Amino acid sequence: MPAYLDNAATTKPCEEAVKACLAAMTENYGNPSSLHKMGINAEIAVTEARKAIAAALVCQPECITFTSGATEANNTLILGAAENYGRRKKKAVISAVEHPSVEETAKLLEKNGFTVVRIAPMKNGEIDADEFAAAVDNDTFLVSCMMVNNETGAVMPIKRIFNTVKKLYPDCITHCDAVQGFMKLPIKAADLSADLITVSGHKVHAPKGVGAMYIKKGIRIAPRMIGGGQEKALRSGTEAVPLISAFGAAVRTQLPTIPTAYSNAEELNGRLRKKLAALDYITINSNADNQCPYILNFSVSGIRSEIMLHFLESKGIYVSSGSACSKGAHSGVLKAMGIPDKTADSAIRVSFSRMSSCGEIEALVTAVQEGYLSLAKSK
Ligand code: PMP
Repeated sequence: MPAYLDNAATTKPCEEAVKACLAAMTENYGNPSSLHKMGINAEIAVTEARKAIAAALVCQPECITFTSGATEANNTLILGAAENYGRRKKKAVISAVEHPSVEETAKLLEKNGFTVVRIAPMKNGEIDADEFAAAVDNDTFLVSCMMVNNETGAVMPIKRIFNTVKKLYPDCITHCDAVQGFMKLPIKAADLSADLITVSGHKVHAPKGVGAMYIKKGIRIAPRMIGGGQEKALRSGTEAVPLISAFGAAVRTQLPTIPTAYSNAEELNGRLRKKLAALDYITINSNADNQCPYILNFSVSGIRSEIMLHFLESKGIYVSSGSACSKGAHSGVLKAMGIPDKTADSAIRVSFSRMSSCGEIEALVTAVQEGYLSLAKSK
């Protein structure tokens, strides 16, 4: 049995998601825009999925728009907000550790004449809420901060940041990329003071290629995809009914057990942390507090990430290189935290899901020890 410990990259679709996806392809394959029964049934499937995502974010279903994933959602929300709210106000404040789908969009804003202020994380990986809020001013049309960092698992003080910003600048739009927190931490859109939230299906046991954006009532986002006017003209294109149904089914199934799954992840994380801490050649990069237990980032002294990753792979254990955002490219999150280059270059990211087990942790720890002994010797 392989030990799949790369769930922040993607998860295995759950049975309910696979069933819902299959049903939408084999039986319920109408176009939701068609006026006949087949079309209406497909539309009902999309409506039911929308209700499930809305229940998970504790909001009205009308606030949910389906997309092809979080990348599209982040692009649409930021650029669409800029179009409507960035005519006179020309500044955005984001964290310096955002996913490329936010960071690259921010760079595009800069190209178009906006100023983007990036707030660096503290040593523990968290963003300082006061520092973030202090960077916002009357000229700021948007703030964007992720809920959980995808490399370290650091939980960001979204509620504090957004509450402060909204108190001082009620017109400033607040956006949260909640991809790594969704279905792991309890989220209530209204509690967060978020105007815009991004989530993705494939991180929560749905298939790849589906995501959703929460848009608070009254907030106007200019669409990126125009055409047939689907999704209230916010995202034209025939709805991906199989993927959307699967996303809804996955979320519906997991919603009642978020706290139990969280406790399990905490136990796995604690167990792994303890075992790794006992090895003097390991540095744990994820902070112990304010940490999402589904992610643990550590470095193996003197062994480059890719080398250890492939050694672990040879033992049937799948992890990510801890500082790479896309194949081999360094994202700089660990460096932004002040972690030395050498340590960052040997970082490994382990990420759990509700399908992870103690056996996988044991296999990982044994393999890391074997890997260190054999790779350090061969250097
Ligand atoms: N934001 C974060 C924090 C992520 O971890 C990811 C996935 N790596 C994305 C956005 C992009 O999600 P998707 O693959 O659905 O486009």
